[in-house]
Amino acid sequence: MDGTTPLNQPDKVAAEAPMIDPFGRHVSYLRVSVTDRCDFRCVYCMAEDMTFLPKRDVLSLEELERLCGAFIRKGVRKLRLTGGEPLVRRGIMTLINNLGKHLDTGALDELTLTTNGSQLPKYAEDLVAAGVKRINVSVDTLDPEKFRQATRWGRLEQVMDGLAAAKKAGLQVKINAVALKHLNADEFDDMIRWCGENRFDLTLIETMPLGEIGEDRVDQYLPLSQVRRDLETRWTLTEIPYRTGGPARYTEIAETGQKLGFITPLTHNFCESCNRVRLTCTGTLFMCLGQDDAADLMKPLRASDDDSVLEAAINEAIGRKPKGHDFAIERRGDAPAVGRHMSMTGG
Ligand code: SAM
Ligand code: SF4
Repeated sequence: MDGTTPLNQPDKVAAEAPMIDPFGRHVSYLRVSVTDRCDFRCVYCMAEDMTFLPKRDVLSLEELERLCGAFIRKGVRKLRLTGGEPLVRRGIMTLINNLGKHLDTGALDELTLTTNGSQLPKYAEDLVAAGVKRINVSVDTLDPEKFRQATRWGRLEQVMDGLAAAKKAGLQVKINAVALKHLNADEFDDMIRWCGENRFDLTLIETMPLGEIGEDRVDQYLPLSQVRRDLETRWTLTEIPYRTGGPARYTEIAETGQKLGFITPLTHNFCESCNRVRLTCTGTLFMCLGQDDAADLMKPLRASDDDSVLEAAINEAIGRKPKGHDFAIERRGDAPAVGRHMSMTGG
C-alpha cells in the first residue's frame, strides 16, 4: 500500500470483504426472486387463489439493481433471476440489461434465469443481447393435457414456442422437471429422449415442502433415488463432476450425450457445499431455502443512499447463515417445513 491510500480505505475493504459464513462457505451465488407473481399456478408451487404482494411492499427495479450491485461488490459471481415468473415483471429487461453490464466489466461470471418459458418468444433475443447464455426452463410433462393440469393456467404449446425461440436465439437450455408420482413418473424416458433431440440438459427435482398448496404432498412425493435406479436399467448414466454452483448432481447419458441432473434435497443433504443466498422481491434475504431465519434488507436499503449501511446488514446476515436445512416430508406429512411458497424464495 502506498502513502496515498485514503484514511477510510480499511473500512471500505471491510464492508466489501467477501462473504464467508460461520462454516467457512464462501457465498458467491445470489438468486433473486424479482416478483411473486406468475402467469401459471403450478399445483406444487401455488394455491389457485394466491394473494400477491401489494406493490408498495415490492422493491422497485432500481432498488433491486442497487441490492444486486452491493452483492456483486461483495463477491457474488453468479446471479440467477427467478420468481414467481421473472419475465412477467413489467420492465424486467431494464434490470437484466443493467445487470448484464457487470458481465462486461468481469465483476460477474454469469447472469441467468429460471423461467416457465411462456414469455420467451418475446424476450429470448433480448436476453442474449444482455449477456445471458444459459437459462433453466421448467417443463414437468410433455403431455398438453397433463401440462394444463399441473400448471392450472399454462399451455404447453406456448412453452414449446418459447423453447424454439430460445434455441433460435442461441440460449443453452436446461429443462427442470419436478418429479411427481401421479404426473410424470412414467414420462422420464420420453423426456430424456426429447431433451436429447433438442440438445437440452435435464434436471429432475424432488418436491420440497414449501408453503400451503391445498394438496397432499406425501401423495405427490416421488423419491429420485428410486427414479434413478429405474432409469439406470435402461440408460447408461455416468457420474460426472460437472457443477453449476447449484445443488444438482449430474450424470451424463451415454445414449444422448446430454446431462441428467438430480436435485434431491429430501434424500440427500447438499448443505455442506452451499454457496448461495436468496433474495425476495421484498428485499428479504434468506440464508437457507429450508429455514425461516431471514434478514430484512429493504429497511437498510431505503434508510440511506450510502451503501455501507446496506453492506453492514448483508455482513450481519451472512454471519447467521445456518449450517443446513431440515426437510423431511415423511415425518411432516403434508404440513410445509417452511410456510413460504417457492414462488417467494424462487427455488
Ligand atoms: N416461474 C419460474 C419457473 O417455474 O421456472 C421460476 C420460479 S419457480 C418457483 C422455480 C423452480 O421451482 C421451478 O423449476 C419449479 O418447478 C420449482 N418448484 C416450485 N415449487 C416447488 C416445490 N414445492 N418443490 C420443488 N420444486 C419446486
Ligand atoms: Fe409459476 Fe414457476 Fe411457481 Fe409454476 S413453478 S407457479 S411457473 S413460479
